[in-house]
Amino acid sequence: MEKKNIRNTSPEELADFLTSHGEKSFRTKQINQWIWQKGVHSFEEMSNLSKTTRELLESAFYFDTLRAERVQTATDGTTKTAWKLHDGLYIESVLIPGKDKFTVCVSSQVGCQLGCRFCATGTLGFKRNLSPGEIFDQVLFARQNAAERGSSLSNIVFMGMGEPLYNYDNVLTAIQKITDENGLAMSPYRITVSTAGIPEKIRQLADDDVRFNLAVSLHAAKSETRSRLMPVNQAYPLEQLAESLKYFVQKTGTRPTFEYLLIAGINDSLDDAQSLAAYCKQFPIKINLIEYNNVEGSAFKRSPDKQRDAFVHFLESRNMIVNVRRSKGKDIDAACGQLANKQKKEI
Ligand code: SF4
Repeated sequence: MEKKNIRNTSPEELADFLTSHGEKSFRTKQINQWIWQKGVHSFEEMSNLSKTTRELLESAFYFDTLRAERVQTATDGTTKTAWKLHDGLYIESVLIPGKDKFTVCVSSQVGCQLGCRFCATGTLGFKRNLSPGEIFDQVLFARQNAAERGSSLSNIVFMGMGEPLYNYDNVLTAIQKITDENGLAMSPYRITVSTAGIPEKIRQLADDDVRFNLAVSLHAAKSETRSRLMPVNQAYPLEQLAESLKYFVQKTGTRPTFEYLLIAGINDSLDDAQSLAAYCKQFPIKINLIEYNNVEGSAFKRSPDKQRDAFVHFLESRNMIVNVRRSKGKDIDAACGQLANKQKKEI
């Protein structure tokens, strides 16, 4: 019999399996607590199960654990981990220190099919979706790492490798386990899912009444510029994206965030700021302006400070909520769009 991934097995399937092998179905709850609350990665550790039950589980299931392949810590304390998956593929996650707590940036896919021009992950192409367990483990290990450093993990952002909404079910299952009181019991309000802007999936999030925050990588409010930066804009134009955001805001009553990477000479003029302000008039929104990290060999360059300040000033003069995000972990390529740089060279 081929073994199944225990963390892809629903409680109902597990209960069926147990009862069909003469075990009590209440074991399901105990097993799920070991997996999602205590975060174990082997049946041996499930000490309140009999040896026979553990052997039964071992004979039918496996764990798709992550193995830390390379850990790099930058001078500012940002840690990037390259994880080797059970099938030999790689993903990365980044632990970012804040004032007194940590944020983890997690991946949702191996590679990405969307090919945003400023993004190293996009050049890898798409390999596969991550399972709920593989997403969950990035958070679990980040929590352990933060605790070892005398702190705790407060925020989770899905801004690593991949388009989270193209792995919709697994991302939502992982978030359910991360927020469930029989799981890691973290607040959904501390979780942000960032998408390149897939309108039908944004509507689905609204219909599913999600409690986490939504961020959209906008990067340009002019169609031509956005298509140049993000090919996804051709399939899902700005107008369609705006309609889905209106729907999301109306259904959830929340204010999403636009991520806007400022790139010199591409999207950082006052004319670009004006287009952005006009686009944002359609719904309540916050803007995160992100500094571009110059990457060797890239045609894109970081916007000069003076230009950035003028851009911010313009938006603020239109009463918009703007945060400027200064990239962390620069000396280890841990910024947005730079994940997978190194592993790519090694694959
Ligand atoms: S920025 Fe995000 S959506 Fe775009 S290619 Fe990179 S990982 Fe994919």
